[in-house]
Amino acid sequence: MTTDQPHILLLAGTFEARVLAKKLEEKFSSVRLTASFAGTVKDLPDLGVPTRIGGFGGIEGLCQHLQTEKVSLIIDATHPFAAQMSWNAFHATERENTAILRLERPAWQQAPNDLWHPVASMGDAADAIPEGAHAFLAVGRKEIATFYRRGDIIGTARMIEPPPVPLPDHWSLVLTRPPQSAEEEVELFKEKGITHVVTKNSGGTRAYAKVEAARQMQLPVIMVDRPELPSTDTAATVNGVLDWTDRLMNT
Ligand code: NAP
Repeated sequence: MTTDQPHILLLAGTFEARVLAKKLEEKFSSVRLTASFAGTVKDLPDLGVPTRIGGFGGIEGLCQHLQTEKVSLIIDATHPFAAQMSWNAFHATERENTAILRLERPAWQQAPNDLWHPVASMGDAADAIPEGAHAFLAVGRKEIATFYRRGDIIGTARMIEPPPVPLPDHWSLVLTRPPQSAEEEVELFKEKGITHVVTKNSGGTRAYAKVEAARQMQLPVIMVDRPELPSTDTAATVNGVLDWTDRLMNT
């Protein structure tokens, strides 16, 4: 492997990034590929490609990284709520004149019988939960503390690793990845007595079962809209990324 090879930096953290790592490796065997994780959770999947873990140190740090590692393309396959990373990647690639493509899976859409209450932020989501509710909080370990001020509700939070600040005493924590079947979610919601579901509009299939379960049980869903992301080229699917990359490599 030489530094003259094209070098793709894959910003990972989603299921799609996992699939992409494998397919990029298969399809572009002469290209150097490095995956990158924030390292927020310790239990990271093995992507089967060289992988670095941890932040770059903002836009400056990322610019430095692009230079020293001679990165020719960033594929931003982070979570749609990882806006800081997407903005940093956008600004760094602008400065360094490096190509960038974002994998942006489509947002979930409300079905006719869904009881959605869209909100713009986690703070608004916390405000929107009615007094006395038992809310299922599928919001992530960094955001959960926003809800702690609601002493008049009960929360059941699900996340992969415990939050930095523990939950209020009378709340419960379910430490696991989201199940893939709506039946399992229905069972959990019934067992806990859930009255409201709070979720980010993550899109994709991997975290959709709770939305489906809420539909089946006719539970209100407080749906946090996505943050604004930079205007870069985007592809909605893994295959779209592969096609775009193929065109770039052959121009
Ligand atoms: P963020 O707020 O966009 O990123 C914060 C910082 O983490 C970035 O500025 C960067 O640090 C570092 N970072 C993020 N993604 C990175 C990557 N792939 N490689 C290297 N460094 C990375 O994102 P977040 O804090 O990870 O998450 C924000 C929201 O997205 C949460 O709701 C979280 O649950 C959700 N989420 C994120 C991911 C993900 O892949 N990041 C996955 C699942 C869910 P420097 O500025 O030092 O470079």
